[in-house]
Amino acid sequence: MAMDIALVGIGKIAVDQHVPAINGSDDWHLAATVSRAGTVAGVTAFTDMDAMLAARPEIKVISLALPPMPRFAYAKAALLAGRHVMLEKPPGATLAEVHALHALAAARGLTLYTTWHSRMAMGVAPAKAWLAGRTIARAHITWREDVRKWHPGQDWVFAPGGMGVFDPGINALSILTEILPDPVHLTAATLTYPSNRQTPIAATLSFTGQVTADFDWRQQGPQTWDIEVETTTGTLALRSGGNRLEIDGNPVSGITSQIGEYPALYARMAELVAKGASEVDLAPMVHVADAMTLGRREVTDAFDF
Ligand code: NAP
Repeated sequence: MAMDIALVGIGKIAVDQHVPAINGSDDWHLAATVSRAGTVAGVTAFTDMDAMLAARPEIKVISLALPPMPRFAYAKAALLAGRHVMLEKPPGATLAEVHALHALAAARGLTLYTTWHSRMAMGVAPAKAWLAGRTIARAHITWREDVRKWHPGQDWVFAPGGMGVFDPGINALSILTEILPDPVHLTAATLTYPSNRQTPIAATLSFTGQVTADFDWRQQGPQTWDIEVETTTGTLALRSGGNRLEIDGNPVSGITSQIGEYPALYARMAELVAKGASEVDLAPMVHVADAMTLGRREVTDAFDF
C-alpha cells in the first residue's frame, strides 16, 4: 500500500526530482503540496503548512524541498503535528536547528531523515568499498559549476544562511564523508565573496590527512564534479558527481544502479518509516560550518544573475 506524502516547497528541485521520484515509486502517493505559489497538476495544493496539517491528518509523511532558511519552521510544525519528516540537503541553515529537530523527532517517536542525494550516486558505494581498509595518502575535490545554470535567479543562495558555493560543495562533502575510511576535519579555508553578496561564490579548503577541496560557482561550459583519492595501494577517482568510478585511471565498467538518486532517497525514507528509525548525519555540514568559522575572506567582483 502506497503511503500518502505531502511535498512542501514546489520549486526547482521539487519539479526536477521529487515529483518524478514520488510518482515513480510504489511506496508513495503524492497526496498534497504546500507552496505559496507552486503547484503540481492534479494534486491538492495548500499555500499554508498549518492548514494542510490540520486538514489532512491521514498524511503521515512530509518531504521538505524548501531552501534551508525557511525549512526549520516547517519541519518543526510537521513534527509537532506528529508527522515523519524528510529534509532536502543541506538539512538546515544551522547545525543547532537540526539537532533540535532530531531531539523533537526522537521524543515523539517520529522519523527524521537528513537526505544527501549525492551519496546515492552510482559510484559512491563501490568507491567506499574499494577504500575500506586502505591508507589514504591524499585526496582532492574539484567541484566547479555554473550557479546561473543550477540556481537561476535564486537570490537566497547568496543571502545569509544560503551557504553560497557550499550549497553544491556540501554534495561533494557528503560523498567524502561517506567514502573515507576515517574522518578528517577542516584546518583552513579561503572564502571568496562577491562584493555585493553575503555568501561565498568560491572556496578552497584544507583538511587533515592531506585532503583539499576547490569549489567554484563561476565555471561555464563543462561542469566538474570530481573527487580524487590517492592511497598507498592505488588511486581512485569519482567523477560526474559520484556517477563514474576510475581505479588507477581506468574506468570501472559495470557500475550501474537500478535506481536514481532521488528514487533511492524515497526508498530509504519508506524503509526508515517502516522501521520507526531516523537517519540524521550532519558530518558534511560540520565541515561547512567549520569553513565559515576558520575561513579567510577574500572579495571579488560583484555578482548578478
Ligand atoms: P527554489 O526553487 O528557490 O525553492 C523551492 C521553493 O521553496 C520555491 O519555489 C518556493 O515556493 C519555496 N520557498 C522559497 N523561499 C521560501 C521562503 N522564504 N519561505 C517559504 N517558501 C519558500 O530552490 P531549489 O533549487 O528547489 O532548492 C531547494 C533545496 O533543494 C535547497 O536546499 C537546495 O540545496 C536543494 N537542491 C537543489 C538543487 C538544484 O539543482 N536547484 C539540487 C539538489 C538539491 P513558493 O514560492 O511556491 O512558496
